[in-house]
Amino acid sequence: MRRKVVAGNWKMNKTNEEGIETIKELRNLVGEYKNVDIVIGAPSIMLADLAKVSAGSNVKIAAQNMYPKDSGAFTGEISPVMLKSIGIEYVILGHSERREYFHESDEFINQKVKSALAHGLTPILCIGEKLEERETGKTLEVNSKQIKGGMAGLSVEEAKKVIVAYEPVWAIGTGKTATPEMAQATHKEIRKVIEDMFGLEVSNGTIIQYGGSMNAANAAELMAQPDIDGGLVGGASLDAKVFEVIIKAGN
Ligand code: PEP
Repeated sequence: MRRKVVAGNWKMNKTNEEGIETIKELRNLVGEYKNVDIVIGAPSIMLADLAKVSAGSNVKIAAQNMYPKDSGAFTGEISPVMLKSIGIEYVILGHSERREYFHESDEFINQKVKSALAHGLTPILCIGEKLEERETGKTLEVNSKQIKGGMAGLSVEEAKKVIVAYEPVWAIGTGKTATPEMAQATHKEIRKVIEDMFGLEVSNGTIIQYGGSMNAANAAELMAQPDIDGGLVGGASLDAKVFEVIIKAGN
């Protein structure tokens, strides 16, 4: 049985103080949920404070990005060593906004995945097709390319540690959610790509989250699908009470 992982992605929202207050509220609301892993992807400026505020609770903190070098002349970047040094356990990589606005390639994302794993961080590798790609029948081709690119060169043991977040780009922040059946069909295809790369044991164990306008009303039905192992949640993770309902659905 795969454990569900429900992760929030705050993107570039909240002040440090607001972030701290939200984590305090969230940890009180979700303390009893033992059957789900809970993660919040926060802006880098808040990570150190949020790691302290969440310490000892079942709320874990993720970075939203990192640079695949330990240290050096990379102005403005944050390394996996820095993340580990403040107690961060997860890192979101290859989000469609990073692919689109910061031109991140599968090769670069792959370097980040390898670097995160080498430092004991759990990568949440985001993949997903754009609307025109879905409409022209390229969904599998695009997701397959992003999985193969993002997980290239990993050993079986490394591959087992990667969380995949399937996020159809047309569903992110748009209020348009993939239907549970549509999402399930794509998750199944993604799992097959992972099987072809790393074998059945890895693919059966890989957590594949759904992301894209998941909310308190649709989370339970999406997460009830056999190949959907939780969610990566943007807008609906900003409010602790709303996010708690989604976490409860995954518990
Ligand atoms: C996301 O950006 O990861 C996301 C899923 O956003 P939203 O839930 O707001 O669509």
